[in-house]
This record gives sequence, C-alpha cells and structure tokens, in this order.
Amino acid sequence: MSTPRTFRIAAVPADGVGKEVVAAGRAVLDALAEGSRGSADAFAFDWEEFPWGCGYYERTGEMIDAGGLERLKDFDAIYFGAVGWPTVPDHISLWGLRLKICQTFDQWANVRPMQFLPGVQSPLRKADDTHLDWVVIRENSEGEYAGLGGRNFSGRGQGSEVAVQSALFTEVGCERIMRFAFDLARTRDRRKVSSVTKSNAQQYGMVLWDDVFKRVSADYPDVETESVLVDAMSAKFVLQPEDLSVVVASNLNADILSDLGSALSGSLGLAASANLNPERRFPSMFEPVHGSAPDIAGQGLANPIGAVGSGALMLDHFGLPEQAARLRKAIETTTAAGILTRDVGGSASTEEVTKALIDALSS
Ligand code: ATP
Ligand code: MG
Repeated sequence: MSTPRTFRIAAVPADGVGKEVVAAGRAVLDALAEGSRGSADAFAFDWEEFPWGCGYYERTGEMIDAGGLERLKDFDAIYFGAVGWPTVPDHISLWGLRLKICQTFDQWANVRPMQFLPGVQSPLRKADDTHLDWVVIRENSEGEYAGLGGRNFSGRGQGSEVAVQSALFTEVGCERIMRFAFDLARTRDRRKVSSVTKSNAQQYGMVLWDDVFKRVSADYPDVETESVLVDAMSAKFVLQPEDLSVVVASNLNADILSDLGSALSGSLGLAASANLNPERRFPSMFEPVHGSAPDIAGQGLANPIGAVGSGALMLDHFGLPEQAARLRKAIETTTAAGILTRDVGGSASTEEVTKALIDALSS
C-alpha cells in the first residue's frame, strides 16, 4: 500500500460563519482523504488551526500575531473562512488579515467559478434546466484596490474636502492575469475569454488593459475572445450567461461581477474561490466568496457549499483533479436531493448538509 501524500494546511476560520463553514469543509475534506486510503493517489491532510480574526483583535489589538505570516509560509495551502465583525471597522479587519495574506504571498490570481447546481433555484428562470458554468478571473494585486490616493487634497471648493482614489495598472500585471485566463480557457470545453473594462470612460489604465489583451490574445489563436464594458457585462451575466466561459477583469470589476454571478447561481453561500500564487513560491489561499454573515452566524444556518467548493479548488491546485471532481459530484448529489440550507430555500442545518456531503462521497 502506498503512503498517502500529506498536505499541510493552515486553517484560518476567522469570524462569524467562517468558523462554521471551515469546520464543515474540514470534515468533508477529511472524509474524502479517508476514502482515498489504499488507492494509488491516496492523500491526507495535516491541519493546523489559527485563532486570528476579529475576536483575536479584541483580545490583542492585532488581527494576526507578529510571527503569523512567517508561520503560514511553510504550509502547502491556507484554508480560510471569512473575516469581519461589526465591532471592528472593515478596513482594519480586511487589511489586517485577509489582504495582508494575499499581498504577502503574492496571490495575484483570484479564481471564482460560477455555476448552477441541480435542485437550486436561480433567479434566472432559464437556469432551471441548464447546466451553466463560467469562471471569473480577478486581478488580485493592483487595479482599483492598489491603495493609491489620499484625502484632504485641496481642490474645487475652498474648505471642502477632496479625496483621490487612483487605480494602478501595469503591463506586467495585466499580462500575467490574461495569460492565466487564456491558459485556463484552453482546459475548458468552451475556449473563450471575455475581457471586461470600462475603457470608454477610464482612458489610461483600462486602455492599457485593452491593449495588452489584444496583444496576448494573438498568442492564443485557438481561443475565442471578446472585450465587453462592465455595464454591458453585468447585463450579459443575467441575459446570456451561456455565452460565457472565462471572464477576466480588474480587481473592482471582477469583485462586483463575481458577487452578481454567485447571486445568480442561487446564493452567495454557494460560491467558492482560490487566491493563487501561480508561481507556487508561496502558499495559495482557498476561501468561500461570502463574508462572515453576522446576521446568521452561530445559528447553524450557514451554507457550507462555498467552503467545500473552495476545497475542490485546493485539490485542483494540488494536482488532484479526480478527487476535486468527486467532491463536486458530492455537492451536486446533495443539492439534487434537496438537502439545502435556508439561503437556497431549504431547511437543513449546516451540520445536516455537511453530513449529506460526506454520505454522498461514499455512495
Ligand atoms: P463582506 O463585506 O465580508 O463581503 P458582506 O457584508 O458583503 O460581507 P456577507 O457576510 O457575505 O456580506 O453576507 C451577505 C448576505 O449573504 C447575508 O444576508 C448573509 O446572511 C448571506 N450569506 C453569506 N454567506 C452565507 C452562507 N455561507 N450561507 C448562507 N447565507 C450566507
Ligand atoms: Mg461583500
């Protein structure tokens, strides 16, 4: 019998429903690993859990301890929950933990698959009988979230404050995220990349983005392309999602579009994501798209599917696509059986969905 490949994972549940969905995801991932025992591609997880987040901040004044990032460096991946709590300002909690990890580990590609699951009602009526899936690739290191600008500029109107918020676009940053998108498109049934900008109104960065897109696409003649303005793309998500395969967009545009996409698939609680360091110099981070959901936290109502799907992305990253497919199949079996949390119209608890997912893995 072969010794299982063991992956060292840092679990950072952080706040609110993050705690519930990370516990659920760990249980499902461990069950999958258990089921791989004895097979040629047997694998196991070696978890270490960290207490960082808003509770930690209230006790210590820090979102993460001083040596925390250094410790994370040695893990194969980070399995994250959600950060944020009403008692701590968002810019402290988000920048103090999640964005710090993304930046420190140069996780410049954010992958957010969108799909319609069997048994889940979408606000898009036509999705009921269609299996749609597309992926939003979000530039995760620069763009509108580069943090450039400031307040108290003197400008129009004496005595009234002026703030400037700039976006940063580099040729290197645009090119690497586009190549990532094109390479991904080549692995999919539909080889198409849609690039999203607002280059009719933002004439510097977004025009550079368009220029680089045109240049990079010449290296991928086998991949169909389109450039769509973000307002038109928002409409297309709703009206023509079947025409999408890979959508690549800047930090802000992709952030908004992927929330729209996950809402269209039925609930924010279903959406998975990966923050990748594609060069693999540092650990990548896998997390559900949703936030800490203080309105439902601690009540056993959280949908664990976004977190479990993020586990599937982690398995893809580890080069275990068949295991990832088993996990995705278990998600479909569970939703098709109508075992759903409240956000997707059911009455099952987090624990009941988790148990159904584990049962589906062994059926
Ligand atoms: P953030 O600023 O961290 O993105 P947010 O304020 O945008 O957070 P969420 O915390 O993601 O929002 O919650 C948005 C809505 O989605 C809430 O009504 C919440 O209850 C719901 N929601 C989020 N995650 C889940 C989940 N896993 N299961 C069920 N409902 C969820
Ligand atoms: Mg949000």
